[in-house]
Amino acid sequence: MFIKTYSSAVFGISATLIQVEVNMDIGINFHLVGLPDNAVRESHQRIKAAFKNNKLHFPGKEITINLSPADMRKEGSVFDLPIAIGILAVTNQIKTDLLSSFLLLGELSLDGCIQKTKGILAVALQAKANGFKGIIVPIENAAEASIVPDLKVFGVKTIIEVIKLLNGDQSIKETTPLSVLEFEQLLQPYSIDFSDVKGQFIAKRAFEIAAAGAHNIIVVGPPGAGKSMLAKRLPTILPPMTLDEALETTKIHSVTNKKSDHGILTQRPFRKPHHTISDVGLIGGGSIPHPGEISLAHNGVLFLDELPEYKRQVLEVLRQPLEDRVVSISRSRYSLEFPTNFMLVGAMNPCPCGFLNHPEKACSCDFKTIERYRQRVSGPLLDRIDMHIEVSPVKYMELTETNSSESSQSIRNRILEARKIQQDRFSKVQAIYANAQMNRKQVEEFCKLEPAGQAILQKAMKKLGLSARAYERILKVARTIADLDTSLDIKTHHISEAIQYRKLDRNI
Ligand SMILES: [Zn+2]
Repeated sequence: MFIKTYSSAVFGISATLIQVEVNMDIGINFHLVGLPDNAVRESHQRIKAAFKNNKLHFPGKEITINLSPADMRKEGSVFDLPIAIGILAVTNQIKTDLLSSFLLLGELSLDGCIQKTKGILAVALQAKANGFKGIIVPIENAAEASIVPDLKVFGVKTIIEVIKLLNGDQSIKETTPLSVLEFEQLLQPYSIDFSDVKGQFIAKRAFEIAAAGAHNIIVVGPPGAGKSMLAKRLPTILPPMTLDEALETTKIHSVTNKKSDHGILTQRPFRKPHHTISDVGLIGGGSIPHPGEISLAHNGVLFLDELPEYKRQVLEVLRQPLEDRVVSISRSRYSLEFPTNFMLVGAMNPCPCGFLNHPEKACSCDFKTIERYRQRVSGPLLDRIDMHIEVSPVKYMELTETNSSESSQSIRNRILEARKIQQDRFSKVQAIYANAQMNRKQVEEFCKLEPAGQAILQKAMKKLGLSARAYERILKVARTIADLDTSLDIKTHHISEAIQYRKLDRNI
C-alpha cells in the first residue's frame, strides 16, 4: 500500500514542495530516505509516541518513507505531521480524499501536540503557487499563513484535530485572512518620537529630507551628540508600511523566526548590527542560507553606528546591495537572492578621539590619524550615500527648553506629500518610487537646474573641493528639498541647502 502527502521545505526565503511518500509492506522495519537530517530521522520516535498517547495504531509492518526531491537536504522536524498523516492514511485510519489538496507542516510532540515552526509565510506562498487548496499548520503560525490571499489556512493544536479535519469534521475553523483594513488597524504608534529630540534643528531637517527622498545618510558628531537617538526615530517619520511591504518583510523575518505576535510586521524594521559583525551576518549566506541584517532591514532602516570600526571587507560587500536593492548569494550548492531595499544611516565620530571641532573639548588627534580614520569608510561606499551631516552636542539651553519639538506625525505628513509627488513623477518608471533611486539618466531628466542654480553648484564644487561623484548626489537631494517645498523647479535655495549636506567631501 502506498500513499502521498505534501509538505514544504524552506530554503533561503523561499519554500519548495516536498512530497512525502509512504509505503507499507510486509516486515517490521522503518526506513526514512531522501536526505533527511537528524531531526527528521528522529521523527519515527516522536510519531510512535504521539500515536500511542492518542490511541492511534502504529503498524508493526515495514514502513518506508521517501522525502522527494531526494537530492535536497531536509532539515528539522516539520515533516513529522505529513509523515504521521501518511502512516495513518496507509493504515486506513483516516480518509484520503483531501490529502492532495492540503500541504501539511508541523513538529509533533510526544503527546501529539503540534509545535510552531518558522518560515510559514514562504510555505503559504509556495502552497498557493503550486495550486494547493490550503495548508494545515500549527495554530501559532496560522495568522501569518493567512496573510496569503485565496488560500485556506487551518491552524491546528493536535494530531487529533488534523484527523478530524481530514475526515470532514466541520468543527475545525478556517483562519480568516487579513484585509488591508485589518492590517491598517494593526499599525501601532511608535513608542519613540522625534519630539523627544531637543534642539538639533539642522539634523532633524536633514533626517526629514533623507526620509522624504529615501536618501542614505551619514551623521558625523562627537559621542553623546544624539546620533543614534536620531537614527532610531527615522522609521517613525517614514510612510507607514503597506500590506505588500509588510508581507515582503515578514517573509524574511519569518524564516529567521523574528516576527511580531500578529504574525505580520506592522512597523518598519530598524536593524543595528554591531561593528564586529561578519560579512555573512550582514549580507546573508551560510551553508543553509539565511538572510543577513541588510535583508532583515528590508523596507526599513539599517543603522551602522561607529562606521569606521566595521571591517573594511564588511563595508565593501554593502556596495552592491545598496545599488541593486537586492543581494545575490552564490555558493557551490545554491544561488539565491534576498531583497535589501533599506535606508542606510551611518554614524561616526569626527576623529578617533571624537572631539574634533567640539565647542568645549580639545581634540588630541593629529591630521594623519584623522585622515586614516576617515579613509576607513571607503570612497566607493561614500559614493552611495547622498547626505553627510554634522551634529554638535546639544547646548544646555536647548536641553532645558520647555517648548515641545515637532512630533513625528507632523513631520511625516510633509514626507507623505513629498513621496506622493515622487510617485507621480516616477509613475512610468516601474522600479523606483523615490528620488534617491534615480539613475544618471533620470537625474538628467528630473533635476534640471536654472542657470543661477547651475552657477552655484559649479562654484561650490570648485571652492569646497567637491568630487564629481558628489554632483549627482547633490542634485538628487536638491530635488527632494524642492519636493518638500512643493516646487516644480529646483530653485537656487534648494541647491544651496543640498550642498550643505556633503560634509565628508570637504577638507577636514
Ligand atoms: Zn580627535
